Amino acid sequence: MALISNESLERVKQAADIVEVISAHTDLRRQGTRWVGLCPFHEERTPSFSVEAQEKLYHCFGCGVGGDTIKFVEEKEGLGFAEAVELLADRYGVELEREREDPQAEAKRQQRRRLGDLLDRTAGFYATYLWDSEEAAKARAYLAERGLGEETLRAFGVGFAPSAWDTVLMRGQRAGFNVAELRGVGLAQRGKGGGEYDRFRSRIMFPIRDRRGRTLGFGGRAMRSDQGAKYVNTAETEFFHKSKMLYGIDLAKAAIAKAGRAVVVEGYTDVLALHQAGIEEAIGVMGTAITEEQVASLSGMVDEVVLALDADAAGQEAMLRAQRVAGDRKMRLRVAAMPAGEDPAEMMAAEGGAERFRALLEEAVELTAFQVGLVLERTDVASPAERDRALTEVAPILAGLGESASRDDLVRRVAERLDLEPAMVMGKVVSAQPLSGGVGQAAQTDRSRAPVVRQSAELTSRERRERALLAMCIALPAEGKDYLARLGEAHLSASGARILAWLREHPEDPASNLPRDDAELAGLIAELVILAHDEPASADAMELNFLLLEQRRLEAEIAKAGEADDPEHRAALSRERAALVERIAHTERVGG
Ligand SMILES: [Zn+2]
Repeated sequence: MALISNESLERVKQAADIVEVISAHTDLRRQGTRWVGLCPFHEERTPSFSVEAQEKLYHCFGCGVGGDTIKFVEEKEGLGFAEAVELLADRYGVELEREREDPQAEAKRQQRRRLGDLLDRTAGFYATYLWDSEEAAKARAYLAERGLGEETLRAFGVGFAPSAWDTVLMRGQRAGFNVAELRGVGLAQRGKGGGEYDRFRSRIMFPIRDRRGRTLGFGGRAMRSDQGAKYVNTAETEFFHKSKMLYGIDLAKAAIAKAGRAVVVEGYTDVLALHQAGIEEAIGVMGTAITEEQVASLSGMVDEVVLALDADAAGQEAMLRAQRVAGDRKMRLRVAAMPAGEDPAEMMAAEGGAERFRALLEEAVELTAFQVGLVLERTDVASPAERDRALTEVAPILAGLGESASRDDLVRRVAERLDLEPAMVMGKVVSAQPLSGGVGQAAQTDRSRAPVVRQSAELTSRERRERALLAMCIALPAEGKDYLARLGEAHLSASGARILAWLREHPEDPASNLPRDDAELAGLIAELVILAHDEPASADAMELNFLLLEQRRLEAEIAKAGEADDPEHRAALSRERAALVERIAHTERVGG
């Protein structure tokens, strides 16, 4: 696929009506040139979501998301950039012209396709080998014993890797691939003696595919007890990142979209067994905890993720980080508590297993409540030291919930179990640092009362000031040019410095080509352009903001000179500051 030409990209941007596109997801009300409404990306009761129709930008002052029409479609429909452009072009009747890519990018894309082809061929070879070879008889028997039928195994492309050292290596080379390529996709590896050999041998092979069904890596299960690790996965390669992959997503995506929910399990055979039993919204995370990336890639598709994982074993912090990402994206994370020692595959193989599993899904509890319950269960309440420890452990989990009905419920539960005053428990929670950084955990039992943490409230006064100044630089570009040159990193926070760099590079029209690979920066630019339209700007206000930032910079330097024990320099800086304070007072008087 060749690149969409810049010209047609421009035409799509011009033709697409951002208010109309966004209105399909939330009701917008007009306020001057701005449209406002409830944010379609986070749970809230008072609108903090803004759309600037002329600039064709959106920004949420609550959760910080922002971008242009294409970005919105990418996020909301779960599409890549090119796909989002195609969708809009289609909808607004723009014919897309394609142009030839630059040769380097095209070569890279072709190489990628070539390696994809290698992985698909190899998956096909493993699958054939499972069904046809004598050597795989034990593997076939093992899978049958687990209750997995041929139809399911074939749908998932399950295969078998021969026990020989170099079958895939030799086949790959005969098909025209070189050893570096075989190593690059994780099929071959180098031994201690320097020789190359197949990474997967004598293993049941589970191809791990992306949404579109392309094989990107493998999981291999050992068939003999002397084989070392029971499971071996493809190592991280250029395009296989295990923490981002969801096993079975290609076959589950339709059922997930239909149900509005995903059921997350740990292992490959769990996914297969559930699909076979008709629970087709099941996907695997290939570990005991779901990662932030996996949660993010499900957002937009689902409202709810039910974890049928060994949540007892999973790292608490990893799960709470996933919870935070889910909360930010309006998703609920619930836990279906599996009976000890039984995984979903085993349950499906037993009589009435599917019904029992469905019942567990219905009874699933919020992740946070589950984790608090886990701590309480393990606590020996007869011991005061144990009760103290339990309280110390649950406080940061609860702190992550923010003010909410579900937090209050859990506080009562903790107080009752530990035989403490609820007020005392609450005091501990309020003073605790949230374990997961804990903002925006909206998705709790009582969604309507979920807390909204306003992003702007979290800004430091310096960040607010620098954003105000940078927005004015956009509103008044002639004056702004001067300030963009005078500002330096020493004046700004890290995010401010990134905005400054972008504005210097795109002085004319900062929002017409938002960065595609940096969502955070794109959001910041969208926010500033919207602010530039809304907030009054004047030369005096710019000067005042600049001087105040300058004062901060000087104070930081004075402190540094003090630490460095350099009194002379310190005195010079102090004089400079006195003059500056004078100027600030003067500017304030003039500006009224
Ligand atoms: Zn929002």
